[in-house]
Amino acid sequence: MLESVKHVILVLSGKGGVGKSTVSTQLALTFKEQGYKVGLLDIDLCGPSIPYLLQLKDKDVHQSDKGWVPVFADKEQRLAVMSIGFLLGNRDKAVVWRGPKKTAMVKQFLSDVCWGELDYLIIDTPPGTSDEHITVMENLKNVKFDGAIIVTTPQEVSIEDVRKEITFCKKTGIPIIGLIENMSGFVCPHCTECTNIFSKGGGEALATIAEIDVLGSLPIDPRVGQLLGKSCVKELPESPSAKAFEKIVERIVK
Ligand code: ADP
Repeated sequence: MLESVKHVILVLSGKGGVGKSTVSTQLALTFKEQGYKVGLLDIDLCGPSIPYLLQLKDKDVHQSDKGWVPVFADKEQRLAVMSIGFLLGNRDKAVVWRGPKKTAMVKQFLSDVCWGELDYLIIDTPPGTSDEHITVMENLKNVKFDGAIIVTTPQEVSIEDVRKEITFCKKTGIPIIGLIENMSGFVCPHCTECTNIFSKGGGEALATIAEIDVLGSLPIDPRVGQLLGKSCVKELPESPSAKAFEKIVERIVK
């Protein structure tokens, strides 16, 4: 039920491991810290990592007469979360489904979850462009859909995959909000100097060619990976990552 959701944002990546779920989670937490009411929907059916990233692994979704009640990540109920991870009885169970079953599940996530009033719904998608993405697109026709954020790393191979994402968005008419370059340099915890482990600025160069915005760059920061359920903006306010997330949210809201 998305009638009372003001903005829907899709988070995409060309391939796995670039930090898409970490970015989706921290983005949702940053919105929450800034006073917004947020939903985070994990439609990575084969590799749901949001319950782990928010330390909600043992939570269960409840069924009400109106539909599924999402899991809340905070006492104030400002961050509502839904993931297939909450529906698998055994946490080690794998989802081995063909397209039609995945499509039905994503449709149900979009129509049967009682999100209530939300300022932003962030949808974390599987890497690439598959059944899940097409289903989301087909079922977002009547909602306030802002568009997609593409997450990439500066390496060439990842950038190549992003080209495919951009083509997919253009073909399916998904507006691209912008690109986030993750793992862009490593900030040494001892001397705070930033070393560009991979080639620098690949994401920016690609964004220029494709005429899309770079919303921000996030360095490799082992502390961000260890935050699990906590917001980078709140826990590490002085870090380059926190500053980047604040700027990214500011640019999205604008
Ligand atoms: P994806 O969703 O694209 O598969 P994840 O968000 O699961 O990627 O991230 C993959 C791994 O990289 C995780 O172990 C995560 O903690 C780590 N990671 C992601 N972004 C950063 C970052 N900026 N700094 C340090 N570690 C990161």
